[in-house]
Amino acid sequence: MKVLSVASEVVPLVKTGGLADVAGALPAALAGHGVEMRTLMPGYPAVMKALGKKTRVKAYADLFGGKAAIVRAKAAGLDLYVVDAPHLYDRDGGIYGQADGTDWPDNWARFAALGRAAADLAAGADEKFRPDIVHAHDWQAALAPAYLHHSETAVPTVVTVHNLAFQGRFGAEVFSQLGLPPAALAVDGIEYYGGIGFLKAGLQYAGAITTVSPTYAREIRTPEFGMGLDGLLNARADRLHGILNGIDTDVWDPAGDRHLASRYSARSLKDRKGNRLAVEKRFGLDADDDPIICVVSRLTWQKGMDILAAEFDAIIAAGAKLAILGSGDQALEGALLAAAARHEGRAGVVIGYDEALSHLLQGGSDAILIPSRFEPCGLTQLYGLRYGCVPLVARTGGLADTVIDANDAALSAGVATGLQFAPDRGDAMTDAVRRMVALYRAKAAWKAIQKQGMKADVSWLRSAGQYAALYRALMAGEGRT
Ligand code: ADP
Repeated sequence: MKVLSVASEVVPLVKTGGLADVAGALPAALAGHGVEMRTLMPGYPAVMKALGKKTRVKAYADLFGGKAAIVRAKAAGLDLYVVDAPHLYDRDGGIYGQADGTDWPDNWARFAALGRAAADLAAGADEKFRPDIVHAHDWQAALAPAYLHHSETAVPTVVTVHNLAFQGRFGAEVFSQLGLPPAALAVDGIEYYGGIGFLKAGLQYAGAITTVSPTYAREIRTPEFGMGLDGLLNARADRLHGILNGIDTDVWDPAGDRHLASRYSARSLKDRKGNRLAVEKRFGLDADDDPIICVVSRLTWQKGMDILAAEFDAIIAAGAKLAILGSGDQALEGALLAAAARHEGRAGVVIGYDEALSHLLQGGSDAILIPSRFEPCGLTQLYGLRYGCVPLVARTGGLADTVIDANDAALSAGVATGLQFAPDRGDAMTDAVRRMVALYRAKAAWKAIQKQGMKADVSWLRSAGQYAALYRALMAGEGRT
């Protein structure tokens, strides 16, 4: 079976969030299920630079304002198709916006081009790879099902929602330039609250919709989490599936991780000590036996970073040390830096994006705190489980699905892997920190939780099988639109 995966970010080429990890990992995970997956992505400068020998499979005289091509190439072990369109992608700054944080004004064209190219590949632009399924990730790829629906090509589609907060909404005035028939500008098409919505269109036209955890799949059908799309998601509930993300267990392996100061396994947990010392040094923390709680996160409201800032003093008073790595909202960066400055030796903040340091934090901290208000799946708690860095998580979305709370029943049954607390509540979060500190001091109980977490299967094994089964069902004719 041939599947074209379409994504705006793919690890290790470009990444701003978990979507990139998933898009990068799926091809290898699915190979064992008889799925040949190739990935279509935009030709950002970093991508064009990484490509090996390029073969042009389709040329465009004018793709949303300039000459362009789809090229086939390999990079970083991935089989790629790349939209080579310098007028859309060859620019300094971020992949979605300028250095000052504002979106590129032509994002509608930049990502309509991605959907257009996906539909052209589905229609046979490369004779060597005619996909049986097109799998579009997030709003940037979500016009692919719209173009396919309004074409002669009957290739079934899947749209995966990695975060419903990002929807690709634009003014209705760009509709006429998308190359879709006038009938598509309708409630059962791309129209969305008077404008147009790329993700909305994808959810409308896709043969199947998936999101990245079973709990989030239920949550997004409610007004509280549905971000305006709960009505549509309810109407299409029979097509909506929750499939958990896995992680790349080769890249995230404490026994072989080159970013660690000291490598270890579940049998040699004492060797985490070298990493712990390195974390203390890097974050200016006292070298004592009080537990280190780390945070590795975008610093945003979604991630509950304002709650963390508000509870900062109480967490330190509970006996924990904090090591925070992140970047995002400037006000939150400032609030966390100011809070850490009040607690010399007890808290440190590094502002920035640092892959190596994120590994060290998982390998050297005792726990990782994730107080998200909503969390489609979340990856950092999965890394935490694998690294014996006990996850302390808000009970929402994928966090609720992947961490077993250390309540009395779970502790006595020996199945606890972390701690959960009620989302969006600072007092509940700080209570969980207090519980965590007590468990940490009861050394044997703590070690048991660490070891149990390290036993959890956080690989792609199970989920890849679920995607493969979904593709097969679609090919068998379930879910044509
Ligand atoms: P989201 O995609 O919503 O940001 P996820 O938990 O799904 O959240 O994925 C976040 C990914 O980005 C993880 O791989 C995490 O380790 C990484 N990450 C987030 N912030 C940083 C940072 N400041 N430095 C390094 N890695 C980070």
